[in-house]
Amino acid sequence: MKEKSANSVWNNCLEIIKDNVSAQSFKTWFEPIRPVELEESVLTIQVPSQFFYEWLEEHYVALLRKTIKRELGNSARLEYRIVVENSNANVPSTVDYPNQNSGNNQNPEVGFPYFLSGNQIKNPFVIPGLKKINVDPQLNSNYNFDSLVEGDCNRLARSAGYAVAQKPGGTAFNPLVIYGGVGLGKTHLAQAIGNEVKANFPNKTVLYVSSEKFTNQFFDAVKNNSVNDFVHFYQLIDVLLVDDIQFFGNKEKTQDIFFHIFNHLHQNGKQLVLTTDRPPRDLEGMEERLLSRFKWGLSADLQVPDFETRIAILEKKMYADGIELPREVVEFVAYNINTNVRELEAALISLLAQASLNKKEVDLDLAKKIIKNFVKSISREVSIDYIQKTVCDYFTVPVDMLREKTRKRMIVQARQLSMFLAKNYTKNSLKFIGKNFG
Ligand code: ADP
Ligand code: MG
Repeated sequence: MKEKSANSVWNNCLEIIKDNVSAQSFKTWFEPIRPVELEESVLTIQVPSQFFYEWLEEHYVALLRKTIKRELGNSARLEYRIVVENSNANVPSTVDYPNQNSGNNQNPEVGFPYFLSGNQIKNPFVIPGLKKINVDPQLNSNYNFDSLVEGDCNRLARSAGYAVAQKPGGTAFNPLVIYGGVGLGKTHLAQAIGNEVKANFPNKTVLYVSSEKFTNQFFDAVKNNSVNDFVHFYQLIDVLLVDDIQFFGNKEKTQDIFFHIFNHLHQNGKQLVLTTDRPPRDLEGMEERLLSRFKWGLSADLQVPDFETRIAILEKKMYADGIELPREVVEFVAYNINTNVRELEAALISLLAQASLNKKEVDLDLAKKIIKNFVKSISREVSIDYIQKTVCDYFTVPVDMLREKTRKRMIVQARQLSMFLAKNYTKNSLKFIGKNFG
């Protein structure tokens, strides 16, 4: 009897709600609701998750209040019952899922993506009671801490990342926000954290995802009416690595859903690692509440590596690939490619490709020819460092000597020549140049 009246009251509400929200929203957020009880003027509705409830409260509370008052008078109230298991009426009872019937495999490997495809449900959440899933973490094992050369450019970010990987969710670095320009190692570091966590804690659920992929998955979930499944999936992750979150800029709905996932994970002591191409404060089109969350943890930047680090990176790469190159070639490349690490690697690869194509040893001449394609012109702006080094090589005097107060002829000449070149071939001010010469 009561159930029936709960039903009829709710159906009347739905009629009104339908006219006030988009068809898509209606399908996503109202169709899954089940009216369960009507007690005086309190209507209890059943929703499939905590998240679902929060979403309704956040986005539809006014509408819900208005409609329910219309039906049940001014003292009307709405209560929620959250039933997580198998409550989604849109989910067919048969689940296409490997081994799910075997009973002893509670933790099957989950493909990715795992959302609705056609009529088949690939989502493990519809398996009642499944609390933990075995997710493919989407990690490339080459991106590890070993292969990530340390330098002044990345020391803070790298060590914070390492600390996080030893104790995910258990440091003050949550979220850890890594920011820096293109090709400076954000993805590498995020992946290294994931790999390190997996090595330390094989049972932890780690997931690397680009913001773009996250966004697309979310859109698909909306389209397929499986937003709940989407959110549930992400809420089961122990260490979530989200790359390039600047991509969330001006995407309100995605930010909204990410905000909820973020909160859930953070509250439950799960680790978040985010990367962005600029400092969080400069992120455009990002909700304030999300930005304020980022401040809870640590933001660490990645800078362009200095000359020595660039050499170390090249050497590491060569060693890993079993390549040997003359020292002067390595130095030449490191001197001239000073924008980012990706370009540095690309220069090395193209050098090797050319060499093998021409069946030639890589020597400085070849390097000069190849590198020319990389930098607009080799004689473009050069750095003071480079000038000093070249000049000192020529005079065979140590670079340090340029700064010393000495009257030795050789040094004086080297210093004068370097200063002359610096003045004419760099954009540095005389004051700055002077500083560089002690
Ligand atoms: P981003 O994500 O910041 O654009 P990536 O992480 O993709 O940059 O890095 C670009 C390339 O440079 C990758 O191949 C990466 O392995 C390499 N790289 C970046 N920083 C370092 C480093 N410190 N040591 C070794 N390789 C690096
Ligand atoms: Mg990247």
